[in-house]
Amino acid sequence: MKRPNIVILGAGYGGMITTVRLQKMLGANEANVTLVNKHNYHYQTTWLHENAAGTLHHDKTRMKISDVVDTNKINFVQDTVLSINSDEKKVKLENGDLEYDYLVVGLGFEAATFGISGLKENAFTISNINSARMIREHIEYNFAKYNNEKEERQDRLNIVVGGAGFTGIEFVGELANRVPELCEEYDIPREKVRIMNVEASPSVLPGFDEELVEYAMNLLEGKGVEFKTGTMIKEVHEDKILVEKDEQQEEIPTNTVVWAAGVRGNSIVEEAGFETARGRVKVSDTLLAPGHDDVFIVGDCALIMNEENDRPYPPTAQIAMQEAENVAHNLKVLVRGGSDLEPFEPHLKGTVASLGEGQAIGVVGDKKLFGWTASVMKKVIDNRYLFMLGGVGLLLKKGKFNIFTK
Ligand code: FAD
Repeated sequence: MKRPNIVILGAGYGGMITTVRLQKMLGANEANVTLVNKHNYHYQTTWLHENAAGTLHHDKTRMKISDVVDTNKINFVQDTVLSINSDEKKVKLENGDLEYDYLVVGLGFEAATFGISGLKENAFTISNINSARMIREHIEYNFAKYNNEKEERQDRLNIVVGGAGFTGIEFVGELANRVPELCEEYDIPREKVRIMNVEASPSVLPGFDEELVEYAMNLLEGKGVEFKTGTMIKEVHEDKILVEKDEQQEEIPTNTVVWAAGVRGNSIVEEAGFETARGRVKVSDTLLAPGHDDVFIVGDCALIMNEENDRPYPPTAQIAMQEAENVAHNLKVLVRGGSDLEPFEPHLKGTVASLGEGQAIGVVGDKKLFGWTASVMKKVIDNRYLFMLGGVGLLLKKGKFNIFTK
């Protein structure tokens, strides 16, 4: 019998966990497993805000795929996916085509820009190692430039973060730590630098517990972050933005706008003709694309509904990994000729948002966590992932162990 070709697209949380699980579960002769990724490394998307702020070097966040995946068992292809043709069961890559019997799509997210004028052209997004590195360099360059010009340019020292959801808050938390270091390094008085967080909703971290939100805001305001809630970003230009609150408009000089106010699935899934909502594929209970029995979707490309509140689950690494475990199990069933697929059920263990070094807030089980305790929990979560992915070796190499930081 012909060995089926399993092709996994994207080496993020979803793609990597699917791969390492299949590597363990399947014998070498049961299937040909191919993992395709743009880069030869996997990165922890959940740490990118630290790389972008410059508080953690990006080499800590990424790891070579060949150090984690056994390339004797898994065929790793470093290439960019251009399109998926589900009728012909083919994936078009920049440098060739791949045929599949089963496909797993884990191509992650893109920024949703909601048609805001100039946003796409002039704002940064925290999307991958390259974009995080660029944000860090851009901020530092502006600090370096500031004292080298005849005229004082305030736009160089105003940093605007669009969105006070998880990513936006975690990023301003890191900036609040990094900015004083930059001020010292480039001889700039701290009070000249503004870190502004602009959010359209009336409060930051929408959906989070009020007490935790208050803690986060007090802490971050204490470190000099300005919150502009109930405020819409209307236009983004190279050196300024236009915001609006209660029909009053304000122009803010800035050449650093970091957009963290919304994501959608990779546009490749929509272009492939899979049925999507908000750019994500509304998958079946076994994570199959609608109308397909050979295409699984994991991570931020997948949309699954929470029947308790009739709303989609927010896309998270936690869900991506759980989906990947489920898909790997179901692929094993299919490869072995079975048809009894296990439905996916998310088990949400909690959420923890970091607020800069040694500080975080979160809910784990039914417990609220603040400050240092929450920050330790965040590190435990991060370290657990490394252990799941690459065992003790990877944990020791990349883990976060500085739990005594206050
Ligand atoms: P990703 O992890 O984004 O991986 C996608 C992979 O596909 C990447 O390796 C990419 O290079 C590759 N790829 C993309 N396009 C192509 C292409 N065309 N060809 C080849 N390869 C391609 N979630 C949490 O649960 N907890 C958190 O604390 C948390 N914090 C976050 C902080 C930040 C700053 C951000 C941005 C997100 C955070 N999230 C968090 C959300 C979480 O990171 C995502 O939900 C998760 O990364 C989704 O996993 P994924 O496997 O779908 O995609």
